[in-house]
Amino acid sequence: MTSPALQIGAHAVSPDHYIDGRRVAGTAHFDVHCPIDQRLLGRVAEGDPAHVEAAITAAQRAFPAWSALSAAERLPYLERFAEEIGRRAEALCAVESSDAGVLLSRMQHGVVPRAMLNIRWFARHALALQARTIETEQATHHVRHDPAGVTVIITPWNAPLMLSTWKLGPALAAGNTCILKPPEWAPLTCSLLADAADAAGLPPGVFNLVQGTGATTGAQLVADPRIARISFTGSVPTARRIAQAAGANLVPCSLELGGKSPFIVLEDADLDAAAATAALMYRNAGQVCLAGTRLLVHERVAEDFAQRMRSIVSQLVVGDPRDPATEVGPIIHPRQVERVLGFVERAVAAGARVLWGGQAHDFGAQYVQPTLLDHVRQDDEIVQNEVFGPVLTLQTFASDDEAVALANGTDYGLGGVCYGQTDHAQAMAERVRTGFIWVNSFGIRDLAAPFGGIKRSGIGREGGDWSFEFFCDVKDVVLPR
Ligand code: NAD
Repeated sequence: MTSPALQIGAHAVSPDHYIDGRRVAGTAHFDVHCPIDQRLLGRVAEGDPAHVEAAITAAQRAFPAWSALSAAERLPYLERFAEEIGRRAEALCAVESSDAGVLLSRMQHGVVPRAMLNIRWFARHALALQARTIETEQATHHVRHDPAGVTVIITPWNAPLMLSTWKLGPALAAGNTCILKPPEWAPLTCSLLADAADAAGLPPGVFNLVQGTGATTGAQLVADPRIARISFTGSVPTARRIAQAAGANLVPCSLELGGKSPFIVLEDADLDAAAATAALMYRNAGQVCLAGTRLLVHERVAEDFAQRMRSIVSQLVVGDPRDPATEVGPIIHPRQVERVLGFVERAVAAGARVLWGGQAHDFGAQYVQPTLLDHVRQDDEIVQNEVFGPVLTLQTFASDDEAVALANGTDYGLGGVCYGQTDHAQAMAERVRTGFIWVNSFGIRDLAAPFGGIKRSGIGREGGDWSFEFFCDVKDVVLPR
């Protein structure tokens, strides 16, 4: 028997799992709240060992037929999946604004079109994979990308729809069957994704959704020896647990983790452009893994830069993410608000100066003012740790070498931003140790390009061919001449 739908505004969302092509009600449930006004949105199924078992069994059963299809045969299913996501655009936007607090405007113009593209682009890209050969004097090597098996996908609350489709697209296109475990603080758009998969006619067991908390449902899923791949995006402590479980079974895992990315402003930078981009770091209330949260500014332009940035930040509209005018929304959970403000308090106590913000925002209980702190030292907690809120730091440098040393002086290595005269900025970008870095720009994410971090920011790359290298078993069939 299925549970009654949750009503999110005009939109109905199932609180159930989706296993083997049908909705499965939970035996236990967890609460989901709206970060804007703390309203209870509803209770969602908490996966227990029986649900995990059912999902793995269904995915295993579906694997032989789905993996036997060619990429061309899988394409129409996935094209339909993308279309069905598009058909639910209005609901997806409204629901993710309500449970994750993502800006409605970003959902409409960024996330939902991207979710469709995530499915469609990888399905089309898979077509090219089957024709790779390497010719040598001795042999022809037919390089196959074979489906790996049952894939577990675990995603965080700051971008549930975007990140789930970013992984589902290549995993399904590769011929794997999937089990998605959405974030418990924002699980609802992934339920709509299951509706889309169902309406698209994906065969039962190819896409499964098991709702639940990380420590229980998530941990059970990743510990199962029948799993062939684990793709995880989230925090470093969780990644350590998942890597341990994966290590026990020798299962490849892809880990996309947190960041503390440098945002370098060279003396020869266009300061207006740099300041406008730096202000973007407050979008989604700073809950963005790839945000450049450490502003590193040449000492001769630092004051000028900060003034220009201040005038932009003072105009930012903080408010309800469902209002199209809003530019900075809520923090996901009271626990995160406490965490973010705790970072600021400790930084100030250690000597940091508040250039702006620094306090709770009066729009609501889960709002924090866009904040900039300077007078911070490289080994301060606020410089070394990911805050995941609307809090940036500013440090100055006197030389390129000093900027590079500051940029590279944390355990993270996800992304970066460098503003300056192009050759200069590019040369600096090449010296920064991260998985990617934007020169005089921010946020360009082409699906063909690799994405991922180094050091504590993760292991492995997804995107383009890199996704298929991860989600497939690469095999060389050697034909001698
Ligand atoms: P989190 O690690 O707490 O949770 C992420 C997911 O893991 C959730 O679905 C959770 O239920 C699940 N989980 C928790 N414990 C688990 C366990 N033992 N076994 C299996 N699953 C478990 O992260 P979060 O707080 O939801 O997300 C914020 C973090 O995600 C930040 O550090 C952020 O930087 C990072 N992030 C990284 C990227 C990237 O692409 N590199 C993108 C977005 C967010």
